[in-house]
Amino acid sequence: MAIATINPATGETVATFEPHDSAEVDRRITQSHEAFLGLRGTTFAQRAEWMRAAADLMDAEVEETAALLTLEMGKTLAQARAEVRKSATNLRFYADHAEEYLTGRELDAPAVGATRAYTVYEPIGVVLAVMPWNYPLWQVIRFAAPALMAGNTVVLKHASNVPQAALYLDTIFERGGFPAGSFNTLLIGAREVEPVLRDRRVVAVTLTGSEPAGRSVASIAGSEVKHVVLELGGSDPFLVMPSADLEKAVATAVTARTSNNGQACINAKRFIVHEDIYDAFVEKFTAAMATLVVGDPTADATDIGPLATSSGRDEVAELVADALAQGAVATTGGAIPDGPGWFYPPTVVTGVTKSMRLYAEEAFGPVATVFRAASLDEALEIANDTTFGLSSAVWTEDAEEERRAIAGLVVGAVFVNGMSISYPQVPFGGTKDSGIGRELSVEGIREFVNAKSVWKA
Ligand code: NAP
Repeated sequence: MAIATINPATGETVATFEPHDSAEVDRRITQSHEAFLGLRGTTFAQRAEWMRAAADLMDAEVEETAALLTLEMGKTLAQARAEVRKSATNLRFYADHAEEYLTGRELDAPAVGATRAYTVYEPIGVVLAVMPWNYPLWQVIRFAAPALMAGNTVVLKHASNVPQAALYLDTIFERGGFPAGSFNTLLIGAREVEPVLRDRRVVAVTLTGSEPAGRSVASIAGSEVKHVVLELGGSDPFLVMPSADLEKAVATAVTARTSNNGQACINAKRFIVHEDIYDAFVEKFTAAMATLVVGDPTADATDIGPLATSSGRDEVAELVADALAQGAVATTGGAIPDGPGWFYPPTVVTGVTKSMRLYAEEAFGPVATVFRAASLDEALEIANDTTFGLSSAVWTEDAEEERRAIAGLVVGAVFVNGMSISYPQVPFGGTKDSGIGRELSVEGIREFVNAKSVWKA
């Protein structure tokens, strides 16, 4: 894929970028390795000062950066501004908490015949980040903030359709005060990831993206015995029981399905509704989805902008067309509109069965499927009938149902009477084919450190 900014609202190529050649990639890895040798000796307080300065820059530049995100991948300006601010918040969060999270602990020395036994957490080196376009800033920052605060350095291979976001990230930490090379963007295609990951100076990898990309990178990391974190796809269930506040559940369902133009891993994608309220839910949900404004992502009134790539829109359209051809029903949406840009309407599909691709595959666009369940047990069975296990939501006012749903959902997170959102404070990650490892919170910063044990006679 060419490394280029293509405006998804128009299909126009705005800028193309020459990929880094192997000499430039090597120069950047060398620089990041050398930066690590210095950074690992700095204090948490020093790194926190640089991190806060980077956060201040990010906040000060919110308008320009948000415009860039909207231009490159089509999210609305309001959501792009929120992404920039959230990224700055995460930088400050790890500036505040890294030292506390990486303070080792005293062990039971007498039990192991020592005068003292304890653990320390140490940085490990240059970590490769392979990142997606859907949150061009946030996905990178949620990994990079803890990695840098731990004393590691980072080389980034960003998605080929967000090169300007990648180049913005290339300088933000150095401008905050971090030594040159602490964070380096590599402008390379997916095929050039393997030699970077096999470079002995690159000690670990984190990938956020699709399952095939995750499997490929993890197998290379496995053959090199390098640590890997994977944040992959999701097809999150959103369960609604009769005791729930239906109006609130519907309003939240709309946001949960359509935020980021429907292209978030933790968008709710499958709505599983108890039969007693199924008809009412479908009617209200369809009406609310149908009123959303699709169009120019820079306009204040727009709810949903274009999908990020032409191939991404084709995939969504094919999933829906396959379901409709086999007898499913679109209660709203379901067809590509005329005109330029890669728009797809908010769509609600009912009557989806196991033979349809839409049952099993992730719809990465504003497409909701709604299923009818006769009981909580059946709702949980449908919810878990997927290879994914990222996040979930359950709507109920019944304490016993809440308990059973939390215990029964095979996922990385459950949101009760709400929708899945990532927060710096809350561990984030999936089970099953949705990934390996965790980001954010204390778990996130402990992924890329060496937990060293010390025993003293
Ligand atoms: P993708 O094609 O896998 O791309 C993600 C990144 O991986 C890009 O930088 C891409 O580079 C690179 N890549 C692709 N194939 C590769 C390979 N074989 N080896 C090495 N690198 C490779 O993902 P996408 O379809 O653009 O993104 C959407 C997916 O990401 C969805 O499934 C979504 O659910 C998932 N996602 C998950 C999370 C999470 O936290 N769990 C968050 C956001 C998104 P190029 O751009 O150059 O191809």
